[in-house]
Amino acid sequence: MKTDSLARTTFAPKQADWRDQIKRAVRDPAVLLEKLGLAPGDEPAVSRFPMLVPQAFIDRMRPGHRQDPLLLQVLPERQESEVAAGFSDDPVGDGASSAERGVLHKYRGRVLLITTGACAVHCRYCFRQAFPYANQHAGSGQWRAAIDYIASDDSIEEIILSGGDPLMLPTRRLRELTARLAGIPHIRRLRIHTRLPVILPDRVTTDLLDWLGELPWPVVMVIHANHANEFDAAVCEALQGLRMRGVHLLNQAVLLAGINDSSPRLADLMRRSFEAGALPYYLHLLDPVSGAHRFDTDSFRALEMMDALRRELSGYLVPRLVREVAGEPYKLPVL
Ligand SMILES: *Cc1c(COP(=O)(O)O)cnc(C)c1O
Ligand code: SF4
Repeated sequence: MKTDSLARTTFAPKQADWRDQIKRAVRDPAVLLEKLGLAPGDEPAVSRFPMLVPQAFIDRMRPGHRQDPLLLQVLPERQESEVAAGFSDDPVGDGASSAERGVLHKYRGRVLLITTGACAVHCRYCFRQAFPYANQHAGSGQWRAAIDYIASDDSIEEIILSGGDPLMLPTRRLRELTARLAGIPHIRRLRIHTRLPVILPDRVTTDLLDWLGELPWPVVMVIHANHANEFDAAVCEALQGLRMRGVHLLNQAVLLAGINDSSPRLADLMRRSFEAGALPYYLHLLDPVSGAHRFDTDSFRALEMMDALRRELSGYLVPRLVREVAGEPYKLPVL
C-alpha cells in the first residue's frame, strides 16, 4: 500500500496534465450551472463564441451565487445576440494593422505576434472573440513571414507574444519560435500576454520555467485577472515560480460592470495581484465588441473609481486607466 501511494506521488502528472484539463473543460452552460448548484435560466445553449471554462477556474467560483464575479466572466447570456449601438466585431482596428500574417504592428518599437487563436477560457467580454484567427495566426509552422518582417525593421525592440493565448502552444513550439527570434539583433525584450497562469496554473510546468530561464532577453509577463478571487494558492505558487526565474509580472484587467466596477473590488484586486507577485499595469475600459455591451461602464464612473483608488492605495498599486482607440499611437489614458 505504502509503496503504491509513494509511487503515485512521485509520478504526479502535474507537468503533463494541463492539456488534459483543457480537453476536459466545461463547454455546456447547463453543466456549469449544475456544478455550482444553480438552476438554468435562459442562457443560450449555443453561442457564436462557445463557452469554455476549465475546472481549475470553476473551483474558485462560489456555489449557489449566480452573480459570482468569476462565473459572470464566462457564462454566455441571451443579450450577446442583441445589436448595441457602437459595438462592432473589430472595435480596436486590428484588421487595419495586421502587417503580415500573424503580426500586429500598431505601436512604435513593439509588435504583437498572434501565435495561436486558442485560449484556455472564453471570456465573454473579449475584444478578439470575432477575430478571424483561421487566416491570421502565425502558428502551425508559419513563423517565417513574421520573422522576416521583424528582422527587416530594426525599430522593433520588443516582441509581444499574444493570441489567443500564447501559452496554449506546447513549450516546444515556443522554444522553436524564440530560437528564431534570438537571431535578430535588434530585439531587446520579450513580452508574453497570457491568462493561463491564472486560469490554469498547472500550465506553469518545469519545462516552461526552464524555457523562460534560458531566454536571452529580459522577459515581461502580463497576466490577466479581473477579480481578487482569481488568485488562489495554486495561482500564487505558479506566479512565484515565474518570479524566481526572473520574469517581471504585471497584471492587466478590464473594467467590467457587475464584476469589478466598484472601488473596493478594484482595490482588493490590486492588493491581491501585488501579493501574488504581479504589479498592476492597465485597467482597460471595455472594448466595444459585439455581444459584450452588458459589461459596459461609463467613463465618468470609471474616473470616480480611479480617484477612490488613488486615495486608498500606494501609488504603484494604482493601475493606468486606458481605452484603446483605433488609429491612435498608444493606448489612450482616460483622464
Ligand atoms: C496593447 C498592444 C501593445 C502593447 O501596448 P503597451 O502600451 O506597450 O502595453 C502592442 N501592440 C498591440 C497591437 C497592442 O494591441
Ligand atoms: S484569454 Fe484573453 S484572448 Fe482569450 S478569450 Fe480571454 S481575454 Fe480573450
